[in-house]
Amino acid sequence: MVPGARLVILGRQGAGKGTQCMRLARHYVVPHISTGDIFRASVKAGSEFGLKADEFMRAGKLVPDEIVVGVVRERLCQRDARLRGFILDGFPRTAAQAEALDKMLDEEDMPLDLTIDLEIDEEAALRRLAARRVCSTCASIYSTSRPPSIDWTCDNCGGEVVQRQDDTEDAIRKRLADYNDLTKPLIAWYEERGALATIDALGTPDEILDRLVAVIDARKRP
Ligand SMILES: [Zn+2]
Repeated sequence: MVPGARLVILGRQGAGKGTQCMRLARHYVVPHISTGDIFRASVKAGSEFGLKADEFMRAGKLVPDEIVVGVVRERLCQRDARLRGFILDGFPRTAAQAEALDKMLDEEDMPLDLTIDLEIDEEAALRRLAARRVCSTCASIYSTSRPPSIDWTCDNCGGEVVQRQDDTEDAIRKRLADYNDLTKPLIAWYEERGALATIDALGTPDEILDRLVAVIDARKRP
């Protein structure tokens, strides 16, 4: 069996991060831990940090980093992640969070193997996002170059496949710019520690997965 891995994956919208996280999770047999999902799960399960996070969210407040890290810690300490590792997607988002994550992983004796930035230039990201079409029922993703087989009717559920309203060019440009501002210090933080690999996100999903696995395996084999 392939050894597991402990990874953080970064990448702006349009880089195909979700797809590659799923593929990496299958390849290394580790859970794909998306922060949005674990927040919902921990609130539902009524975990200590889940309940704390819920209070802030209900009040419409930003959840403080120490609580976010608490939610992540609760998840990473579960058996699957302990045994095999994890792919963290959507966290950390800031250099301060990266520092807090690093400290927590150190305490739990599960250091990261690598942080990967899936890199795509802004124009290419814009083109991908502007071509994106989404099923209004099940959220399956298509594009103008890869439409459903019958006339914008979802292959999975028969729902209507549409362009999301917030996928206009202006809105996409704004989201991409916001991502840059927020993420630059985070990427610099990992770079300074020699813990970052940058991977070109242009290519077929198979090509990109091959690149990722090559870099990760090289890192894990000292
Ligand atoms: Zn659908």
